[in-house]
Amino acid sequence: MRLRLQSRRRAAVLGAGLSGALALTLASAAVSGPAAGEPGNGADDRVQVVRVDAPTVDKRNEVLALGLDPTEHADKKSIEVVLYNEADRETLRDAGFTWTVEVRDLEALSERQRKADQAYAARVAESPLPSGRTAYRTYDEYLSDMRMLAQRYPRLTKPLTLENRTVLGEPIKGLEITTGADNVKDGKPTFLLLGAHHAREWPSSENTLEFGFDMLQSSAEGDPRAERLLEGSRLIIVPVVNVDGFKVSRGAEPLGDFSTFDYEMKRKNCSISEDTPEQYLGGTCEDNPAGRLRGTDLNRNYPGFWGGGGASTSWSGDTFRGDGPGSEPESDAVRQLISERAVTMMISNHTYSNLILRPPAIASTGKSPDELALKELGDSWAEENGYVSQASYQLYDTSGSTEDWSYWITGGFGYTFEIGPDSFHPAYEDGVVGEYTGATEAAGSGGGNREAYLQAMEAAMAPKYHSRITGRAPAGRTLTVSKTTISPTSPVLQADGTTRSQIYFEDHLTTDYRSDGGRFRMDVNPSTRPLVAGRYGRLPEAPPQETLTLTNPAGVPAEGASEETTFEVEGLPDADNGFARVSIEWPDDADWDFYITGPDGTTVGSGATLDNPEVITIPDPVAGTYTVTAENYEGGVAEWSGEVSFDGPEPPQTSGIKEAWQLTCTDRRGEVYASRRVVVDRGERVDVGKVCVPRKRR
Ligand SMILES: [Zn+2]
Repeated sequence: MRLRLQSRRRAAVLGAGLSGALALTLASAAVSGPAAGEPGNGADDRVQVVRVDAPTVDKRNEVLALGLDPTEHADKKSIEVVLYNEADRETLRDAGFTWTVEVRDLEALSERQRKADQAYAARVAESPLPSGRTAYRTYDEYLSDMRMLAQRYPRLTKPLTLENRTVLGEPIKGLEITTGADNVKDGKPTFLLLGAHHAREWPSSENTLEFGFDMLQSSAEGDPRAERLLEGSRLIIVPVVNVDGFKVSRGAEPLGDFSTFDYEMKRKNCSISEDTPEQYLGGTCEDNPAGRLRGTDLNRNYPGFWGGGGASTSWSGDTFRGDGPGSEPESDAVRQLISERAVTMMISNHTYSNLILRPPAIASTGKSPDELALKELGDSWAEENGYVSQASYQLYDTSGSTEDWSYWITGGFGYTFEIGPDSFHPAYEDGVVGEYTGATEAAGSGGGNREAYLQAMEAAMAPKYHSRITGRAPAGRTLTVSKTTISPTSPVLQADGTTRSQIYFEDHLTTDYRSDGGRFRMDVNPSTRPLVAGRYGRLPEAPPQETLTLTNPAGVPAEGASEETTFEVEGLPDADNGFARVSIEWPDDADWDFYITGPDGTTVGSGATLDNPEVITIPDPVAGTYTVTAENYEGGVAEWSGEVSFDGPEPPQTSGIKEAWQLTCTDRRGEVYASRRVVVDRGERVDVGKVCVPRKRR
């Protein structure tokens, strides 16, 4: 059923106690927030997931700015949030939003999922997963499984402990997997697979570790594809980045009510902000007055474009960005790992939304210079897992995300996978077994995340997506490729909506190679940061199409019914359209909703807001027949009218600036023999010859 509530027509506000989640989210002063131990959830409110109508990026950003709990599920029409109580509903209503209830009773759903897990484990001795698991691991089981793999496959693995400990002092563990894994100075390109930046997103950790099992077992069984990948590249898995938060979420006594004190739903890490009011400072991470709202959102804390839209400025917000760029030890540990290895491909796993997201994560940066390659890869993986592949900013802004730092600063390709259709940790059979193997509705006949990860690892290894430096060096010498860069964050958004100056942060990127003598090959990322290289665009090959007037069919459909009309988009050689803008308006006493489907029948845009006129922008519209469906929402009798205008594509921006890697050769005692600058672009190979001979002596 479609539940549509509009603030302008709704006078009554139901009485509701102050919401814990909301009050804390909005807390800028010490006055708001629940008393310790008092559940924030109103007594007769059911916790619900709702789909908020928000058909533009700006609208979705507006929803995020309300400080509600986002689910990471959004599409071109809407964004899903968790509403904990009447106060949350009121916030949405007051901001003029309408929504549809997706999950009527989250608590009941959660209970059904855990029962399904028990039934699955009882029914199936072994799942089709590489490990055969039938239930979510505890944190200790992640550690013991990684230890077991390291013992079983000693030559193919090297246990990894990241540089920083967590806020609560825990080491962050991972596993390196490649032929001859002990030698990390082997010059191979690296595929980094990450899980659980967000604590409650358990399938992200399961999918990550299962791929580790898969590569090791497949390779040991003589599978040629796995052998080739482990010969030519290195896999690093870190199944649980947010160790503290995950332990709290996974170890929580299930309340199932998704309230402030339902720690199973914890998203963030365990840090305490400088701005946290005193009454919320006490207690432990798993039992404290701020409940699950203590902490920083690690996927809003990375320094690349930190401090912009799509992140909360408030210590209690579910997307709190942290006290400064890279302030959290966990995100900083990942940043350091990537800084010390040639990570040519990174996938950070999350739940949920069935999405493959590529940079940029905020609209203000403009499309990345590698848009075509990033899109092509994401699209091809999406055919395997059935997800939607798109640039992250097309949904909403997410400043401070992992790949917006890793891609723009290191040049390594980076993606976010939002695994599964509808839950943070759904029934294991669906969220892990189904998504990994591809036995889900979304995957169809595709190979699931397993095949997507395999293709990502192949792309990590493919020289056309990164850079190579070759040459000759005597045995025992260490070659180091390094670069120190200074990059700005976003202009830093303040709680009152103003911005302060960007903050500059320094990165030191380095990769070592130990020579066995003779020819060497180092796979690295391009020497120029994408941040400074420029932005994607294309030059027009023809003028844009002339403006069209939409034909409104005769008559007005009844309330809730719809009518259709079509328009034609031209292509080359007649017209080169970068954007189509469909603008539709109607007299005040009507309310129309619009949906546009493209030549292949998929929805390319929609307008279901209260805006009049509605403007729907279609980027890079393909040639063919488009259908506009107009739904008479309110049953008014007024006709709509509309037109379609076209603009040419935005041209590419190339800065022309080239940055260089510093390449040095040192002996065993660390004495530098030679040093030079190497400029190398993506897909390029540069041969530096005898790199350990100083130039003047050659
Ligand atoms: Zn997430």
